[in-house]
Amino acid sequence: MIITPETWDKNKEITTDIAIIGSGCGGAMTAARLSEQGYSVIIIEEGEYVSKDDFDQNARNLVPRLYRQNASLGTDDQSIRILQGKAFGGSTTVNWMTSLRTPDWVLEEWAERFGLNEYLPEHLGKHFEMIEKRLNVHQVPDYAISPYNRIILDGAKMLDLHQKVLPNNSKDCIGCGSCGLGCPYDAKQDMRLTYLKDALENGATAYTSTHAYQISPESRDRHIVKATMQNQTIRFQAKRVVVSGSAIMSPLLLQSSGLTKGGQVGKNLSLHPVTAAIGQYDSEMHPTYGIPQSATAEYFDDTGYGYWLEAPDLELFLAGVNFPIIGPQRHEELKKLSKSAVIIVLVRDGADGKTDGEVRWRRGYNKQNGRITLKKVPSIRYRVSPTDRKHLMMGLETAIKIMFSTGAKRVFPFLNPSPELTDISQAPEVHKHPFQPNRISLFSAHPQGTCRMSKGKGVVDETGQMKHYPGVYVLDGSILPTAVGVNPMISILASVSRAIELGNLNL
Ligand SMILES: Cc1cc2nc3c(=O)[nH]c(=O)nc-3n(C[C@H](O)[C@H](O)[C@H](O)COP(=O)(O)OP(=O)(O)OC[C@H]3O[C@@H](n4cnc5c(N)ncnc54)[C@H](O)[C@@H]3O)c2cc1C
Ligand code: SF4
Repeated sequence: MIITPETWDKNKEITTDIAIIGSGCGGAMTAARLSEQGYSVIIIEEGEYVSKDDFDQNARNLVPRLYRQNASLGTDDQSIRILQGKAFGGSTTVNWMTSLRTPDWVLEEWAERFGLNEYLPEHLGKHFEMIEKRLNVHQVPDYAISPYNRIILDGAKMLDLHQKVLPNNSKDCIGCGSCGLGCPYDAKQDMRLTYLKDALENGATAYTSTHAYQISPESRDRHIVKATMQNQTIRFQAKRVVVSGSAIMSPLLLQSSGLTKGGQVGKNLSLHPVTAAIGQYDSEMHPTYGIPQSATAEYFDDTGYGYWLEAPDLELFLAGVNFPIIGPQRHEELKKLSKSAVIIVLVRDGADGKTDGEVRWRRGYNKQNGRITLKKVPSIRYRVSPTDRKHLMMGLETAIKIMFSTGAKRVFPFLNPSPELTDISQAPEVHKHPFQPNRISLFSAHPQGTCRMSKGKGVVDETGQMKHYPGVYVLDGSILPTAVGVNPMISILASVSRAIELGNLNL
């Protein structure tokens, strides 16, 4: 059953076996697995209930409805924009569908550094298979690869780089290019159409437009979650609480509930920081249409860290903000958008052994943005480490070379100010650009790691249970112990599925 503000019966005291906060990858998988065993499951989701009829492809309507903070969430100094879905289905409702398994070398690193032998490839294989089947993961067929993705395959071949066609989770996708505003055709097999659907069919109840603001553990088998819908408080009493609010929101909720023993909640933020370049061609690229991210070229060094390139469809609400040129020239350049292609450069961050990122509540003077606040406000801090910077600029150079090799006439890297490049020989010039906050346009759609799973220093154990709070679980992108080095949806689903297999929430 789905409860919305319109259908809520005003019952403010609800008892359940399991209360899950958040309906993205982590929440949806947990709800499906536990409801199929006959437990009573309640999902509490702050975002609205949305279906294909809502997805009218109109960014002005949909960005405020589907994205946290109108898609303007960012680090304190605004140097990295962080995209987060806030809707039924979480970020999967707006994501770009790339569906990749966690690389074996990453899982091996987790075993070595964090003692997570239970997550070695031989244990995760069947979870990946099960998820890929449920989400209809398949390789994008050759005929459906858009021109702006084809340049990655062609350019990388010319430059002798490793490249491949990517898989995604769609069914009968017509390539309308609206993934970032929700799929109007129910082609994207996001959580709403898969694991949340399963959970609802098994009897779970989803409270939407409902914001959970406090978790109070009373005993191992009794927890109270307080939430608001329409400014009214609802108290959920549950045997187990599962926090699945994402790697940004889960640590904030745990901190505001005082569940911070161990001092690790909110630390170890990784982002897969992203920059980009836009290239102008003589031929039509139609960057606002087509299946997003159907090809990649990648470079990882022998430590397993490096970068990969992808080409999402150009969401105008993102392009408008991130386009590297300002003033009257921007107007002129944007007129050439239909003959432009954007390649994004994503970095597996943490190459220097750790990331310098944290999510927490702060008050007082914030030296990153110069503001003074008396009330505590959410704060996200992140600095790109030296090796990750190097990988970003290497990736940017490669993206520019790919564009010129495939016929681009002018390329603008997302630097501030952006140089106008007209020849492949200028690509290495990006390394001379100062790497300072807001001198390079950065964003992220992949926050991870802020409630690290670890046998050593971490927030949760291998079953997802908080080390200091029995009965409280974290199951979402925040438990990934390191950045995964691929788009993380499948990694989160598989890790959550495995954590439940290992502990079954100790029920
Ligand atoms: C634009 C975009 C494109 C992406 N493209 C890809 C891609 O192609 N491939 C890929 O693998 N990954 C992609 N991702 C990333 C992927 O979707 C996320 O990593 C994944 O969905 C994270 O799962 P999660 O469970 O951690 O959190 P989310 O999916 O973000 O879900 C968290 C949910 O919890 C809710 N919530 C938070 N706090 C509260 C609270 N206090 N009370 C109630 N509800 C709360 C939020 O509203 C949200 O709906 C993309 C993400 C974005 C934003
Ligand atoms: S590109 Fe495909 S999956 Fe994405 S919104 Fe369009 S039809 Fe849906």
